[in-house]
Amino acid sequence: MMTILSTSSAQAPDPLRLEFAEGRVVCLIKTDDKEVPDIVGVVLPIAMRCVLEEIGAPPEPATLTIRLEKPPRFYKRSKALRPVEALAVQDGDKIRLHPGSDPLKLAFRLGHELSHWLVYKQHPARPPLWLDEGLANRMGSAAAEAAARPLSQTIERPAPGNIAKHLEPLDTLLTRTTYPRKPLEVAAFYWQAETLVDALRDKLGRDAFREYLGLLSAPEPPPWDAPLRETWYFNDADFQWLSERILNAP
Ligand SMILES: [Zn+2]
Repeated sequence: MMTILSTSSAQAPDPLRLEFAEGRVVCLIKTDDKEVPDIVGVVLPIAMRCVLEEIGAPPEPATLTIRLEKPPRFYKRSKALRPVEALAVQDGDKIRLHPGSDPLKLAFRLGHELSHWLVYKQHPARPPLWLDEGLANRMGSAAAEAAARPLSQTIERPAPGNIAKHLEPLDTLLTRTTYPRKPLEVAAFYWQAETLVDALRDKLGRDAFREYLGLLSAPEPPPWDAPLRETWYFNDADFQWLSERILNAP
């Protein structure tokens, strides 16, 4: 028989605690509901392993709190902040998240925000916006694909429609420090950022891309193209290829 020592049974349950990277990463999942939904306990480890493998564990042991919320509570605020991230937001060692009921969408959201968090833990000065968001979207896709495999599902991520008019030249994308406002501009920005990161990551490979991420996340980073030219021997044709790639939305 179990003895109930506390009278707090009507309150929120203890957080669900999950450990990763041999205990160097601890996740505490908090909810005001009776219990943490199963979908979160299933999808979070898939997304976390996926992102850890790409970005690496924090240099020091770290604890992340994931607070499950209903959409309206932070929707308005985050709508102004980052329109497409209305359902999940990372801020310091906290992620606020509306889990929803679709495991693949949840995996995308978690992969995206975990990428921001792990990049922040390794590089507190943070990379430029295009690199942070492009990598986060790439990690969201990778997490969704990893979550789809055991479910025998396939990911459908059609390119956002009607963004052609809103695509920015490479120089504009690279120097952006704020999010666009209109939904189609936002969609174009995320598509271009992810496309550029995909192209660089595929060309450099994982370890060199990590190194590049570190260089561009320094408090006083070099111009984005300097290490690509000097360390990885990109030439004018490579840069031409990159600038054309982000202007050819499917
Ligand atoms: Zn983001």
